[in-house]
Amino acid sequence: MTERPFPVENSTASFWRSNNLHHIDSYRSPEFPSDADIVIIGAGYTGASLAHHILAKTNQGSQRPSIAILEAREAVSGATGRNGGHLKPDAFIKAANALDSHGKEAAEEVAAFETRHLKAIADLVREEGVDCDFVLTRALDICLYDQGNEEMKEKLDRLREAGVDVDDVFYSSEATAESLSGFKGAKGCFSNTAGHIWPYKLVTHLLANAVVRGVNLQTSTPVRDVSTTPDANGKYTITTDRGSITANKVLFASNGYTTAILPDLKDKLVPVRGICSRIVCPPTSRPPLLTNSYILRFNPVEYDYLIPRTDGSIIVGGARRDYYRQLDSWFNVSDDSKLTEGAEHYFDGYMQRHFDGWEDSGAFTERVWTGIMGYTADGYPYIGEVPGRMGQFVCAGFNGHGMVQVFLTAKAVAEMVVNGKGIEEVDLPRLYRLTEERLGKKKRHGQLVAFDAFQEAEAKL
Ligand SMILES: Cc1cc2nc3c(=O)[nH]c(=O)nc-3n(C[C@H](O)[C@H](O)[C@H](O)COP(=O)(O)OP(=O)(O)OC[C@H]3O[C@@H](n4cnc5c(N)ncnc54)[C@H](O)[C@@H]3O)c2cc1C
Repeated sequence: MTERPFPVENSTASFWRSNNLHHIDSYRSPEFPSDADIVIIGAGYTGASLAHHILAKTNQGSQRPSIAILEAREAVSGATGRNGGHLKPDAFIKAANALDSHGKEAAEEVAAFETRHLKAIADLVREEGVDCDFVLTRALDICLYDQGNEEMKEKLDRLREAGVDVDDVFYSSEATAESLSGFKGAKGCFSNTAGHIWPYKLVTHLLANAVVRGVNLQTSTPVRDVSTTPDANGKYTITTDRGSITANKVLFASNGYTTAILPDLKDKLVPVRGICSRIVCPPTSRPPLLTNSYILRFNPVEYDYLIPRTDGSIIVGGARRDYYRQLDSWFNVSDDSKLTEGAEHYFDGYMQRHFDGWEDSGAFTERVWTGIMGYTADGYPYIGEVPGRMGQFVCAGFNGHGMVQVFLTAKAVAEMVVNGKGIEEVDLPRLYRLTEERLGKKKRHGQLVAFDAFQEAEAKL
């Protein structure tokens, strides 16, 4: 078990970071600052998006705050540089849960917020001309077991009946799911608008832009401590391996690693290790073209995601079948320098096993890597001012699903930081708000509850 989950050295090399590294990857601004108005901890999607939105809100006339970004390793070397690149809004599963627990408005907010990311990112890519292989598509969410299919369908129906907008979701029953998806044994298929992207390219673009606009970026600078109370000048002290910085505002964009420097969230925001791969075909092979992206659900806890790229390769992540039973191989694990034991070969023959027409494709696993996600106790991100730490904001805990949550969340936090808005005044799902009540709940972490249920179900078999 990880006591203080700092990023480790020698992380596994993801496809996205395997060649043509951006000059910002190991960039250090010429001067190590001793003071800044705002310090952002973490140079991933969240840290870069926070800088982007703060700059956007302060560039016309107002005096721009000084911003420093401190990154423990290389830029975009955390989850963002090693994820699946899938922009798949959860159009109805989380929303149905929110409907039960918090009512219609909360459900609408959760679903709409994720969906809105597609347009926000498409606009960003277009406006800034970002070269990041952005593709809009339909995600096919394929359920391979009857009970799951029924439960998902029931959730979708319940939202429709409640008047929540789920018009973008199309359901195919067993009769047509297999032919529609090309996936053997599909019991049902739910499709919605989605996208995929080269996340490293998008986020290094944002960081490079921020640096050009005056942000001080310091890579290979782990933060070891953040003072809990301000000094006489109202400043916090951020202690790094390379010296200390004082700042009026501190933004934790450190995702799965956050509790190493913000113990207030201990046991609530837990590092979880995921595993991902890239599958390629020999040049002579011509398997059926896959034009969608996919989620494949095998049982309540085992699911994979799959993104066919424009270069013909396939990114596949998941593999829980081969490691989920070993809780200490994934839960509360912050080491991405190793592959998850037991799952190293999960992706071998994956396409041949599951997809019609791929049996003789010769597809093989070209690369496997791991990465650290931040999972929260109740499944929603922790966003906002840290209770009891005025001026310190957390923006973390995206539960392995940040590509369609981070960008607009960062915009909302920027609004709080720059314009002093309260969390209830900004555009953010209410369920994301970090409150003492959420932290105080003595509930078992959601991932452990799911694990217990899985073990119980297995024992009954
Ligand atoms: C294998 C894998 C597959 C995934 N696939 C998808 C997907 O397909 N779609 C999707 O939506 N989401 C996916 N995710 C989740 C997604 O990657 C994250 O939600 C998102 O990248 C979070 O961005 P972030 O900037 O908050 O975190 P990160 O990218 O992890 O950035 C946090 C940064 O903070 C730095 N840091 C941490 N602690 C310190 C410290 N003490 N001092 C200085 N710096 C520090 C880290 O080094 C890191 O660079 C996946 C994640 C993994 C691991």
